Amino acid sequence: MQLQLPSPVQQIHLPMFQQKGLEVFVKRDDLIHPLISGNKWRKLKYILQEAQKADKNHLVTFGGAFSNHLLATAAVAQTYGLKASAVVRGEKVANHVLSQCKKLGMQLFFTDRESYRDKPALFQKYFSGDEQAFFIDEGGASLRALPGCAEMLDELDQSFDHIFCAAGTGTTAAGIYSGIKDKFLDSRLHIVPVLKHGEFIKTEIEKYLPIDTQLSVHTSFHFGGYAKVNDELLRFIISYHRQTGILLDPIYTGKMVFALHQLAENDLFKSGSKILWIHSGGLQGLLGMQAKFELIDPDFTQNFTRILSE
Ligand SMILES: *Cc1c(COP(=O)(O)O)cnc(C)c1O
Repeated sequence: MQLQLPSPVQQIHLPMFQQKGLEVFVKRDDLIHPLISGNKWRKLKYILQEAQKADKNHLVTFGGAFSNHLLATAAVAQTYGLKASAVVRGEKVANHVLSQCKKLGMQLFFTDRESYRDKPALFQKYFSGDEQAFFIDEGGASLRALPGCAEMLDELDQSFDHIFCAAGTGTTAAGIYSGIKDKFLDSRLHIVPVLKHGEFIKTEIEKYLPIDTQLSVHTSFHFGGYAKVNDELLRFIISYHRQTGILLDPIYTGKMVFALHQLAENDLFKSGSKILWIHSGGLQGLLGMQAKFELIDPDFTQNFTRILSE
């Protein structure tokens, strides 16, 4: 498996940042691997080690039908010659994520939303007879996922006043925050939850480590909830690509970078500040919204469809 690690850091030059006296950089975790998008690799790294130590050769995990985590797990399993299975939330569907998963050899089990809540019970139901089966929670959420995410800070060769990341489960954010604390960095972590009622992210992080004021959660950039978008967000993603050449996904990084821009425009950051945002990947999410982008900008849509199918 070709992993591009350490992932590169590049500066983003935009007139607004120059006006505000801000230096903004991006950590390109989206470039780590075409299918194992950014933070999913970092989260899986030590989970995988644990599975190997326990001599388990069958990864079993959980997710929704568009889950980047399922795809990442399937790709990791194939690369390491492991078996992979996933319990997928909701009734049987077909889409580009799940067909990729199947192509990579992952076995899929669809389950209704009610049963999906109890993952240990599902693991028991489907895999109790398989001694090789190794349980990985939805999104890779676990204490084991943190050190892999914290490690990204070791790859930085300069310091930043502010670090931005998108959050679903909050596991990646918890990992970065633990790294900031362990390494005594002065950086403030800004978390942009992509789900409604994002305050829950703090509770999630506190399951792993205590938090203090070196962390901000910006809860008003969910655009209606998980995988919800509006024209303003889609247009932002299109214009961002035009101005910087960087593709954002509509589920995670699009919302987070939108938040960063809004906060910068509202002068949250002192002139002279250095800001880093984490591009956690997830570009497959663009394909899931192809039709919506098509209505606004067919050229852009053609462009990313070509890039992502390469
Ligand atoms: C899964 C994912 C996230 C969220 O990670 P959590 O650890 O669940 O908070 C962020 N960005 C992208 C691109 C993702 O695929």
